[in-house]
Order: sequence, then structure tokens, then C-alpha cells
Amino acid sequence: MKEIFLLKLGEIVLKGANKRQFEARLRQNVRRRMKRYGNFDVYIMQSTVYIEPMDEMADVDGAWEACRSIFGVVSLCRCRPCEKDVDAIFEAIENYLGDDLDCARSFKVESKRSDKRFPMTSIQLSQEIGGRLAEAHPGVEVDVHHPEYTVYVEVRDFAAYVHGPAQPGAGGLPTGVGGRAMVLLSGGIDSPVAAYMIAKRGVEIEAVHFFSYPYTSQLAKDKVVELARLVTKYSGKMTVNVVSFTEIQEAIRDNCPEEFFTLIMRRFMMEISQRIAKNDGCGALITGENLGQVASQTMEAMTVTGAVVDIPIFMPLVGMDKEEIITIARKIGTMETSILPYEDCCTVFTPKHPKTKPTLGQVLHAEEKLDREALITRALENIEKIKVNYYDDEPVL
Ligand code: ATP
Ligand code: MG
Repeated sequence: MKEIFLLKLGEIVLKGANKRQFEARLRQNVRRRMKRYGNFDVYIMQSTVYIEPMDEMADVDGAWEACRSIFGVVSLCRCRPCEKDVDAIFEAIENYLGDDLDCARSFKVESKRSDKRFPMTSIQLSQEIGGRLAEAHPGVEVDVHHPEYTVYVEVRDFAAYVHGPAQPGAGGLPTGVGGRAMVLLSGGIDSPVAAYMIAKRGVEIEAVHFFSYPYTSQLAKDKVVELARLVTKYSGKMTVNVVSFTEIQEAIRDNCPEEFFTLIMRRFMMEISQRIAKNDGCGALITGENLGQVASQTMEAMTVTGAVVDIPIFMPLVGMDKEEIITIARKIGTMETSILPYEDCCTVFTPKHPKTKPTLGQVLHAEEKLDREALITRALENIEKIKVNYYDDEPVL
């Protein structure tokens, strides 16, 4: 009999009245992800997503890998379905898990029975199967407290399922149940991680990148688009809005006091991002800011840059240490690209002595000479929208 996947739902289970809507969304997300791996049937019963390959052509290993990055899933396992009968269950375990069992020094059987009509209790079933397996594998000891390997038996509505230890899922909530947000994506380590963390809460992501050609190169832009692509492994498709920032940066350089360069530049970034966000149905901005990391990441600086925005600014990394951020960047696969040595527009015209405790009054005064509205309008007129998907063959937006 064929192999199928069971994906256990996480927090969705707690969502009460919204549960159905969350499940429907998750099912749709899983279906979309499975498409490129062949013909799979996807359905949800008893807080579990079932994924069944429908023919021999299906790329089961590829599909399994893809399931590991779907938000809304706490754990997942590959399993073999069989009849709800002790002999059939034993035989399925022997065929499907027998080799794994032989590699272990000790084992136990853990059974779950959601079909209460099954004639044995979970404990009786575990004991019966455990006894038969111990006889068939005399080299492997039974150890119910600290087994090296656990055989799982789940007696469900339509069949029994046998499997080995489950893998951790991507966690979080299904993409799309939490609205949309706009990440300010630089080429650094932090902002892709920030995007991932908010995406994990069920939020669809769109990105904006400020690009200062020729001060920053085409390679720097390609790097950001690649970072966005890496994040879409988890978040699903994304549009990157590339905003040409050269004129604004030069205007700041020519008209404002140097110690305020970065702050004024960041206020432009925030305001432009918010306008694109509102236009595209995003309800919040996301940044990779981190308290105390650089001069523009003090509370005073955040007050000044946040003052141009009236939607929430999510900063999921604000209280994390760099090491913690890097651990996530490695886990999600963005780290290697982030450390490629291309410059970001933040490093162009950086002041030697940036103001770390600015007041809003000082900054408003410092940017007085600029025609903010005209600069912003021109920047918004020249946005390049790049659609990004993890795989080239996936349908874009
Ligand atoms: P990162 O590692 O994400 O670049 P950082 O530690 O270098 O962050 P800053 O350079 O101060 O910090 O930037 C803070 C945040 O501002 C970034 O996390 C990102 O959200 C946003 N940002 C910075 N530069 C750009 C850019 N060129 N385009 C879009 N957003 C940017
Ligand atoms: Mg940066």
C-alpha cells in the first residue's frame, strides 16, 4: 500500500469559531504547494491534513520536503495506511518500519485511537503489537520509558496509520489568515528574518527595497530579490517593489545637516513604504530593526522615524541578540546570501557622527529645505515591481 503524509495542525486547533476558515486556508495553501510535485489529494479531518499521492508519477520526496516549510503545521509524518485490524497493522509495521526498528537498540509502541469503535483500547493495542514486534525482532529490546525508537499507530476514521517519529513542522499560522504586511527589505541579515517571523504568524508578505543606483549596484538589487525568493519558500509568492532612492539621497546630502542624514533618509523610507503598503492592501510595515544595534535604532531615533507612519510597524527582532537572529537566518537559509558583500543604500552618505538622541523638532528643522512631497511623488512614480516565487515553475500572482 502507498505512503501518505499526515500534517498535525498547530494553534489552529485553538481558534474556536475561526477554525474552519483557518483549515480551509491551510488546505488551499497545501494544495498550491503540492501542485508541482504531481497529483495529490489533500483533505483535513480531525485537526490533521492528509496528503495522498494519487498516482505513481507523484514526486513524494519533493512533496515531503515542501511540507516542512508550510506554516500552520506543528509536526508531520510519513506513514502507511492499512486496515483497522491487528494483523494488518502488524504487517504494515513490519513492511514499512521493520528496517528502522532493527537499527535501534530499544523500542516501544504508542497507539492513538480516535475511532472509538475499534475493539481494543490504545494500551491494549500497543501491548499486543509491541509483543508481536518483540518476538519478530529479538535483538531489539522493549523499553517503554526511554526507547530509542517509537512505532506509532493511529486508528482513525477510514484507516489505521503506522509511522515512526514525527518531524517538527514550520509552526505558526497558515499564510493568509493574518492579512498582509509590507517588509522593508535590505540586503542585510535582519530584514529577511523579520519578514519570515511575521509571515509565520499567517501574514502575506510584500516587500519594498530602496535602491540607490549607481551608489549601489545591480548586484545589490539582485541579492535582495534573491533574499525575497528565499523567504517565499515559507511565505509564498511575494512582490518586491524596488524604489529608486538616488534622487532623495542626493537631495538630503545637498540640503540637510550631516548628523541627520540617516534619520531623514529613514523617514523617507518609512513614508514611501507606507504609501505603497496602503495602496496594495498591507495593514502594517515590518522592519529588521533591533534595539541599540546602530545609531538609528535607539528609542529616540525610532520615535522620529515612526512619526511619519500611522499603521503599525512590526519589529519582530527588536529584543533579540545578533546570535539569535543569525540562528534563524541559517535555519531558513538566508544567511549565506545576506553576507554577500554588496553595499546597501544605508551605507551611502553615512554621517561620521550620527545623532543618536534626536528630537522630532530637530529633524523637522533639519529637513526643512526639502520638498518632501515632490520627492516622494517622483519616487512613487518609478517603482519597479518584481514578482518572486520560490520555484520558477510555480504560478505567479
Ligand atoms: P538589515 O540587516 O535588515 O539590513 P540592519 O541591522 O543593517 O538591518 P539598518 O541598516 O539600520 O539595520 O536598517 C534597519 C531596517 O531598515 C532594516 O532591517 C530594513 O527593514 C530597513 N532597511 C534598511 N535599508 C533598506 C533598504 N535599502 N531598503 C529597504 N529597507 C531597508
Ligand atoms: Mg542594513
